[in-house]
Amino acid sequence: MQMGDAEMTARIRDFLKKRCDEGPCLVIDLDVVRDNYQAFARTLPDTRVFYAVKANPDPAILKLLADLGSSFDVASVTETKDVLATGCTPDRISYGNTIKKESEIAAAFALGVTLFAVDCEAEVEKVARAAPGSRVICRIHCDGSGSEWPLSRKFGCEPDYAPDILELAHRLGLVAHGISFHVGSQQHNVEAWDRALASTASVFRACAERGIALSMVNLGGGFPAKYMRKTPKLESYGKAIFRALRKHFGNAVPETIIEPGRGLVGNAGVIEAEVVLIAKRSPEDEVRWVYLDIGKFHGLAETIDESIRYPIRTSRDRDEMTPCIIAGPTCDSVDVLYEKNPYPLPISLAIGDKVLIEATGAYTTTYSSVGFNGYPPLKSYVI
Ligand SMILES: *Cc1c(COP(=O)(O)O)cnc(C)c1O
Repeated sequence: MQMGDAEMTARIRDFLKKRCDEGPCLVIDLDVVRDNYQAFARTLPDTRVFYAVKANPDPAILKLLADLGSSFDVASVTETKDVLATGCTPDRISYGNTIKKESEIAAAFALGVTLFAVDCEAEVEKVARAAPGSRVICRIHCDGSGSEWPLSRKFGCEPDYAPDILELAHRLGLVAHGISFHVGSQQHNVEAWDRALASTASVFRACAERGIALSMVNLGGGFPAKYMRKTPKLESYGKAIFRALRKHFGNAVPETIIEPGRGLVGNAGVIEAEVVLIAKRSPEDEVRWVYLDIGKFHGLAETIDESIRYPIRTSRDRDEMTPCIIAGPTCDSVDVLYEKNPYPLPISLAIGDKVLIEATGAYTTTYSSVGFNGYPPLKSYVI
């Protein structure tokens, strides 16, 4: 199987056949997560993998990855504890969230974490007080173009400012360790890393002139899962990144790490949901409203602005298709998944039919509300 393929596996199909409980659920196939991890390790052999825990923090996924030798990118003390619970040691954890309370930094440090991301001077001061002597990575800004889920405006300093931030860290007794960036999640352009690495190399040079030797580049996430749109192969990302590293660092390529989230678990999961209602707004209406028992509040939050377009399969996909508006079941009008760009579904689709929403292993369970309108959080089975 190709990494990134949204594919119903035989194991998931068998599990769903035998399933007897009600309501929507996500099923994750750990074999796919393992294949994905090995594909990353093969494609970027000199780069350590830090799984971005926020994509899916299920304990079975964390345990599998820890056993495979993965390291972890965490954003909170809870995520740190979840990773440590697998038996993974704290030297395999990077605290990548640039927005932390001082008490959280102290708690992570007490648990043994000594690698923190920062993107401004105030955060450096917090880390210097709460986690003295730690290594810091300065996150620089990326514009996120070419990605379907940009992470740009909220994080990262302008690259020209990074040497000042790292020099402050150095003066405050921290180890100015390196640079990180995130090219935007679900990044389609394999060249996106080239621009970020050009900026990174100039920060390395500026720091060297100040007598500070940086040693690590965190290449972030952004590796895609396969949804409706075709994505380049993982090998193309690996080659483009390798080329960019050689181009900008020559023979002095620094230590590199990646933080895949979506690319590791996205295609490992399938959601089974059910058609609750099919409605026309007038007798001659061409576009039907199809309401599912899952929506924006039950794990499909990444359909905001119709950013992520999941493959949806039914048992009637050989029949004639017709454009539909797809919505969730709650009494909130933002709970619409696809409307601007209607979604083709079979004319024969009926109330009570099951639908499969593929490539939903990342950014679903944790985006599910706790009980909005009385609907329980999305159930998840890891097999
Ligand atoms: C979310 C996140 C990631 C994972 O991004 P993907 O696009 O899902 O691979 C990596 N690093 C950081 C700092 C993140 O916040």
